[in-house]
Amino acid sequence: MGKVSENPSVPQMINWISSRYSMNKAALARMFQTTQSTIHYWQKTGNISYKNLMKLRKSYYYLHNTTDSHAGQRYCRCCRKWHPLVKFREGKAICRACENKKTLQHYFTSRDFRLKKHSAKVLIKS
Ligand SMILES: [Zn+2]
Repeated sequence: MGKVSENPSVPQMINWISSRYSMNKAALARMFQTTQSTIHYWQKTGNISYKNLMKLRKSYYYLHNTTDSHAGQRYCRCCRKWHPLVKFREGKAICRACENKKTLQHYFTSRDFRLKKHSAKVLIKS
């Protein structure tokens, strides 16, 4: 068996578990203590809460006879890297570093804009 992917998508993991262990949606729903329509939603959209993603990854790696190398970490959608949970603010999908970068960018673009507006006024007055 080859090396298990470090970052399988949600549908990939669900499809693998369901075909490898011949589990239908009802069985998967029981396994993840959720409803069949939630399993369907995860499979279709890949949208899943962090808590459930960790459950899914845990099962996925367990069934591959290995462990999740990113357990206790979270994937940042912005820089596309795994970081320890402390690098994220509660409920945020992007890490603090990316959040700060965005805030700074926003600050500079709005500041530039204000400066331009200001100098335009000065030009009109003089
Ligand atoms: Zn990031």
